[in-house]
Parts: sequence; structure tokens; C-alpha cells
Amino acid sequence: MSSQPESAAAAGSALPPLVLKRQEERRLQAGHLWIFSNEVDVEATPLTAFEPGAHAAVQSSAGRFLGYAYVNPRTLISARLLGRDPDYPPGRSLLVHRLKVALALRSRFAAASCYRLAYGEGDLLPGLVVDRYGDVLVAQLGTAGMEAMKTWVEEALVKVVAPAALLWKNDSPVRELEGLPRYVETAFGDVPDTVEVPEGGVNFRVPLAAGQKTGWYFDQTSNRALFAGHARGARVLDVFSYAGAFGLQAARAGAQSVTCVDSSGPALAAASATADANGLEVELLEGDAFDTLEALHAARRRYDAVVVDPPAFIKRNKDHPKGLAAYRRINQLAMQLLDRDGLLMSCSCSYHLAPGELVDAVQRAARHLGRFAQLVAVGGQSPDHPVHPAIDETRYLRAFLFRVTDG
Ligand code: SAH
Repeated sequence: MSSQPESAAAAGSALPPLVLKRQEERRLQAGHLWIFSNEVDVEATPLTAFEPGAHAAVQSSAGRFLGYAYVNPRTLISARLLGRDPDYPPGRSLLVHRLKVALALRSRFAAASCYRLAYGEGDLLPGLVVDRYGDVLVAQLGTAGMEAMKTWVEEALVKVVAPAALLWKNDSPVRELEGLPRYVETAFGDVPDTVEVPEGGVNFRVPLAAGQKTGWYFDQTSNRALFAGHARGARVLDVFSYAGAFGLQAARAGAQSVTCVDSSGPALAAASATADANGLEVELLEGDAFDTLEALHAARRRYDAVVVDPPAFIKRNKDHPKGLAAYRRINQLAMQLLDRDGLLMSCSCSYHLAPGELVDAVQRAARHLGRFAQLVAVGGQSPDHPVHPAIDETRYLRAFLFRVTDG
């Protein structure tokens, strides 16, 4: 797998073709990277002839070269484009090139060397996620195609960032849809249990192997800055706090008090360690957010700024009705705790929840409680999660800042 071909172009021309049906090249030509099974001319090039993760040269029905892709005959997305330049077939040097371009973007935007270094399709690296914590990398292979290139990915990461350690956090449930096992494994080096992430004037203690996902939710970085910017003097409630990223930055920005709510004990332990190490005060409430918010209401607690950042309540489109109901309910519970003139930051990381639906959920809550909500700022993914404009799925994070007054 990792042996180098004699010449890159020769390797590319040796790849088997994957021929599309008539006119099915249009989406690819418009910039998209995915090929669905019904778009493939399976009489000319049966998908079953490909092993999961195998490479192909994609062609239009007229025989025009469209790009190189990896194939998975078992998934609805049958192939994902890796590149359109015939001289750069799938291989280590293509990955090195992509990672260098990705690194240049992060160097332009990030203050420290902690960020998402590679964001899948958004960086033209479908199926690959890499988070960088200084000289420690935590990476995730999400597709059979990326899994098959694991050695190349590792070599390319070494070449581009020369990390001291690399952890494969290949435990995401999406891997099962790709027919892949779930595992966590150190590729090389000593992966520390926790790393430090500087953000908003706080040095956060972040658990890696024992943490959630790839450790830190970098996608929210810019929204946390937005929220903290309005936290001075406020009684702050951070709902679904994980390691306290929103709340503790608000504390650093001069909040009067900060309360974090999360169901994960280890996440709150990380928040507590961070607070201690940074000389910040925080109240930690471990438990289900819905129940805890109801209990706070019953106890007549009030806040001036509340952030709600739940896990994805809508993972698949079929969960939409149930998930939407959960977004409505949690936002209403949160708004109920706001004092007369308060701020509510409402977030969702469900791609299947349209931005307007979240705004509507907050508006309904306001009407129900007899209050008036004004949308004052719109947030989004941090620049280290670049959106691919042709692939709407790469734009999944919603964040809205509302001011809420008595109606
Ligand atoms: N706001 C965080 C990220 C939150 S991720 C940040 O900026 O880093 C979602 C969090 O919700 C996770 O920490 C998870 O432990 C927590 N969670 C999931 N279900 C929950 C529930 N029912 N009640 C409380 N917390 C929950």
C-alpha cells in the first residue's frame, strides 16, 4: 500500500475506470465530491468489482476524465473524489499537498497551534479529520477509503507537521456504516492523557483518549469568543458545557458567576481542573440538562446569559421530528431561566436542523413564555472547519445570539 509508484501519472492511468451514467457528471463539475450509487453506469463498471476503499479514475459517459476517487460499493455514497488533476493520483504526495494547503489556512487564522488541521470534505480530504494540539495529533478516519490510505495519511502528517505523537481516535459510530471496526490506537509517540488548549485567555485541560470525539470542540471557538464578549458582570449558565469552554471563557471575561451543566462526570472534572489551574470559580451541576434546568427553575434561579450547546439531537433525517421537539424544549427551559433582559446563545450541530428551524424554536419559546426575542448576532463554524460551498453537509453548526426581554 505505501510503496511508491514509479511515476504518479503512471499510477493514475493504471487505476480502473468508474463510469457515470449520462449527465451524472454535472454535480461533480459544479464542485461536489460525492458520487451516489444510482449515478454509476454499473453495466459498464460494476460497483461490486471494487473492494471497499479501492481507487478509481472517474469518467463521464462520454469517456471524459473527471477525477480520482475512492470507492465503497457498500455505502449510499459510492465514491468520493480525491482530486481532479490527472497528474496527482491518490497517494502520499497528494495528501502531503492537501495537508500543506490546510495548514496554511490554519496558520492564517489561529493564534496558537491548536486547531482542527483537516476537516474532511471542507479541505478536499473526504473522510479525514485531524485535530492538532501543538505537537500531538488526534485523527479520525471516517470512511473505508481513508482507512485504506491510513499509512499514507500517517506518513503525510509526519512530513507536514512532524508531530511527536499521533492518536487514532477511530471510534466514531459512522465507521460502522462503512463496514469498519471501531478502535482507538496510538500510531506513534507518547500520547498524553490530557493536553492544554489556550482559548479566550484560559488554558483548558483537555482529555484526549478519554475525552469526547477528538478531544476539543474547535468548531465553537469563534462562537465562544462572541458569547464571552457579552459576559462581563453576568450570571452565566453553560448548558451542555463539556469541559466548560463557554463558561470558563465567560468567567475570564468578567462574568459575575458561572454554572456549568453536563451529564458527563469526566467532562465536568476537566472543567474543574481548568478552573483551579486558572484561578476561576465555577459551579458544576452533573446531570441531565432537561431535568437540571427544570430543577433550577423550581429553585427560582435566574441568569443573565445562557448558552445551550446540545449534542446532535438529529443525527439522521428520520430523527427530525423528535429532535426538533427536543431543540424546542431545551430552548424553552433555558429561556425560562433568563432574567428580564438576558442573552440566549442557542446552538445546534445537527446538519438536519435547518438554521431557520432553530430560530423558530427560540421564537416559539418566547411566545410561549410571553417574552420577546431579538436576534442580535449570528455565529458559525470557526475557520478551521471550512465550509465546502458545494457540499451543504459541511455547514452543520448553527449558533444564534438572542436578546430576550419581557414581551
Ligand atoms: N459546549 C461544549 C460542547 C458540548 S458537546 C464546548 O463548547 O466544548 C455536548 C455535551 O452534551 C457533551 O459534553 C455531553 O456530555 C453532553 N450531554 C449529552 N447529553 C446530555 C444530557 N441529556 N444532559 C446533559 N448533558 C448532556
